[in-house]
Amino acid sequence: MKVLHLASALAIGISMLAGPGQAADKGTIGIAMPTKSSARWIADGNNMVKLFQAQGYKTDLQYAEDDIPNQLNQIENMITKGDKVLVIAAIDGTTLSNALANAAASGIKVIAYDRLIRDSANVDYYATFDNFKVGVIQANSLVNGLKQRFPGVHPWNVELFGGSPDDNNSGFFYNGAMSVLQPMIDKGDIKIVSGQMGMDKVGTLRWDGAVAQARMDNLLSAYYTTAHVNGVLSPYDGLSIGILSSLKGVGYGSGDLKMPVVTGQDAEIPSIKSIEAGEQYSTVFKDTRELAKVTVEMVNAMLSGGTVPVNDTKTYNNGVKVVPSYLLTPVLVDKTNYSKVLVDSGYYKADQLK
Ligand code: BGC
Repeated sequence: MKVLHLASALAIGISMLAGPGQAADKGTIGIAMPTKSSARWIADGNNMVKLFQAQGYKTDLQYAEDDIPNQLNQIENMITKGDKVLVIAAIDGTTLSNALANAAASGIKVIAYDRLIRDSANVDYYATFDNFKVGVIQANSLVNGLKQRFPGVHPWNVELFGGSPDDNNSGFFYNGAMSVLQPMIDKGDIKIVSGQMGMDKVGTLRWDGAVAQARMDNLLSAYYTTAHVNGVLSPYDGLSIGILSSLKGVGYGSGDLKMPVVTGQDAEIPSIKSIEAGEQYSTVFKDTRELAKVTVEMVNAMLSGGTVPVNDTKTYNNGVKVVPSYLLTPVLVDKTNYSKVLVDSGYYKADQLK
């Protein structure tokens, strides 16, 4: 008892010593990110660490290199170590139910970050962007690009790509895009030459650019020996780069063969350079600084008993419950505005894009 009293007296003493500007230790926040292979997740992790530390939290940031058992281990370690809150961008949104039951049993709160965690009652909040809108923006940009680059062509030949089927966002992106494209397909303005439609046909496991490139190669050799492709719906820059390589490999973008309109997401540097060069047509920017900020606000409110910021309590049913969410707004980026949106806002420095 005495030892305990001494220890807590010391702790109080130490926390009193932590004067203004030196916030007291509020415990550790576990941050489980999917992979470092895409720049956005690196930015997400770094932004959160910075903000959490400024608020007096310790952070435990882990990347799982898109390996599901690896991410599960990392999360279980966070629970064992007694992290206060887990912020998780899941690789596979359906594989964490047991781990989250353990977290709940230890009183650890969980925020699904960017990607919804499915099949668990133990997801407290969800911080993300309006994922349906991402798809709408991509499809609108695809259609505008088709009008601009291929006026007079009827119908426009288009192929569709989806994200990883185990990522809950992928269906939202696809459905958002199809809300724009399906009526045009029905009217005969757009033709999906391969006929491959639906997430089960167009999904790209683990968001892997090489998988997308291989599928584009196959589509080109099976369906485009005489026809020309005019547009490709791509939900993510890493896929777009693979798709563009495939297209360039058979001569698109040189001579008379105009580059098809290819969309994207995340405003990754190689894609911005590709947009500057007139190859990729557009991307969708999701400001990871804002997502980190909302997440930190959620954690602060949860731990202090304050009101957690949410602006959507209807959309994200994870199979067990509707998870209260905060949705940020995605922004279209193309050749006309990339500098304003990305450089003027300080997200990138101009020389990073050269
Ligand atoms: C994210 C996208 C990202 C994709 C691949 C999705 O869950 O919302 O921003 O492009 O994963 O990493």
